[in-house]
Amino acid sequence: MNRVPDVRIRVVNDMPPRADGKHEGDYVLYWMIAFRRPRYNFSLQRAVEWAKKLEKPLVIMEGLQCDYRWASDRLHRFVIEGMADNAAHFANKPVLYYPYVEPDHRAGQGLLKELASRAAVVISDDFPCFFLPRMIRLIRRVIPCRFEVVDSNGLLPMRAADKVFARAYDFRRFLQKNLLPHLAEIPKPDPLSRIKLPEPTSLPTSITKRWPAADPSAILTDANGLAVLPIDHSVQPTETTGGWQAAEGAWRAFLKHRLPIYASERNHPDEQAASGLSPYLHFGHIAAHQVFDELTEQVQWTPGQVAEKATGSSSGWWGAEEQVESFLDELITWRELGFNICWQREDYEQYESLPEWAQRTLAEHADDKRKTIYTLEQFEQADTHDEIWNAAQRQLVEEGRIHNYLRMLWGKKILEWTASPREALQIMIELNNKYALDGRDPNSYSGIFWVLGRYDRAWGPERPIFGKIRYMSSDNTKRKLRMKEYLQKFAESR
Ligand SMILES: Cc1cc2nc3c(=O)[nH]c(=O)nc-3n(C[C@H](O)[C@H](O)[C@H](O)COP(=O)(O)OP(=O)(O)OC[C@H]3O[C@@H](n4cnc5c(N)ncnc54)[C@H](O)[C@@H]3O)c2cc1C
Repeated sequence: MNRVPDVRIRVVNDMPPRADGKHEGDYVLYWMIAFRRPRYNFSLQRAVEWAKKLEKPLVIMEGLQCDYRWASDRLHRFVIEGMADNAAHFANKPVLYYPYVEPDHRAGQGLLKELASRAAVVISDDFPCFFLPRMIRLIRRVIPCRFEVVDSNGLLPMRAADKVFARAYDFRRFLQKNLLPHLAEIPKPDPLSRIKLPEPTSLPTSITKRWPAADPSAILTDANGLAVLPIDHSVQPTETTGGWQAAEGAWRAFLKHRLPIYASERNHPDEQAASGLSPYLHFGHIAAHQVFDELTEQVQWTPGQVAEKATGSSSGWWGAEEQVESFLDELITWRELGFNICWQREDYEQYESLPEWAQRTLAEHADDKRKTIYTLEQFEQADTHDEIWNAAQRQLVEEGRIHNYLRMLWGKKILEWTASPREALQIMIELNNKYALDGRDPNSYSGIFWVLGRYDRAWGPERPIFGKIRYMSSDNTKRKLRMKEYLQKFAESR
């Protein structure tokens, strides 16, 4: 059995498992909070390892709170669709799957404590962003047994790099020198396949009565299923379905039809050449490992193909075709750069985490006259003078995503049209995290802070408001990109 690598395991409560004696635990508990999938999941695999070793049943609790910031019908539905997939999958496996959707504020309080009080070991997910790290820190106090969190975020274990990288180039060079051994350590596609575990007994009624398990499919089919929850009902679900089944469908459609045009067409909004995987990666419905595994199998790539020298260049190192290299650079270099900063710097979402040169140049231009200033409400309602910006904002509100190139322009214009860079930052965070399915992610902060200079260098000529921060213009964008259909689709009066 390929074991979960030690570098991916963080022991939060370092105690022996409660395997015998007076306080013997009844089961191993996997508390699923970020990697919401049954496949290619190191956390689940670790929980199975413990259950096998201790000969205990495995209980998987997947929870959904109602009082995290930006909780809405859109985000809830996506997660609950994932729960429905998980419920169907685990129904045929030797585990007890326990989905819990919190019906009211604080109703879920105490559930984990109760479950953990009967556990031999508790395993959870080590996700470095949003409220999750804080939640783990708080909850550890009520877990009376061994508690481990596992990193199943990306291809490079977070703890394999102990410094923060200032540029993608530096991180890429690090990856080119250090990634290969980790690529050989892939999580099991199905960690419960051919596994024999003791039959899980049902949970005590003292738990199931107070915190009844949710029926995800019933919530989804009931017209009032979401309406009764105390969440933001103004942010409506999109047409993108959540869950690992939909994630695999989206991934395979991209692999088959759009990968060949990815490098050449990705920037053109009319082409829709990108994968659309970011919401699934964010909610853990698909693993970067699975994507990598299936991609390299399809193109028959082997580690022997990599270049001898680590140059930090975004092309040439993998020894693969241009579109494969380009996709892997986004999936690995750019995506995992965000995880790198989030696990090491608690201030990753603070303005002060910007590079010193960026803060200085923005400060030097703080008093520059702004020709146009919009409020958060005007931005939110796509009520600016700029046709492209408004279209991007409407796509965000309607579809929960923005085309990647336009997302950069979207951010740059918010910087240009607000009274200060700090206000621009808050508006970007608010709109991105409220509406984007992939928001509240390490890459939300990479992208938003990139607008203000993170991972970038100084550019000339020095401009008003931007100083030496890279500038983008709507006119140039319109000249360079094919976007006629996109603009029609997201025009004001349709
Ligand atoms: C202002 C701004 C805000 C952003 N907010 C988010 C966000 O909330 N969540 C988010 O996941 N990404 C964010 N990004 C990065 C990027 O826009 C998205 O990751 C990408 O558009 C997702 O589309 P896709 O899955 O089709 O990507 P593809 O092009 O198919 O790429 C595959 C995967 O690689 C990763 N990736 C691609 N581009 C980037 C990038 N520039 N930076 C980091 N990772 C990347 C994503 O995980 C993506 O799913 C933001 C960028 C900007 C400029």
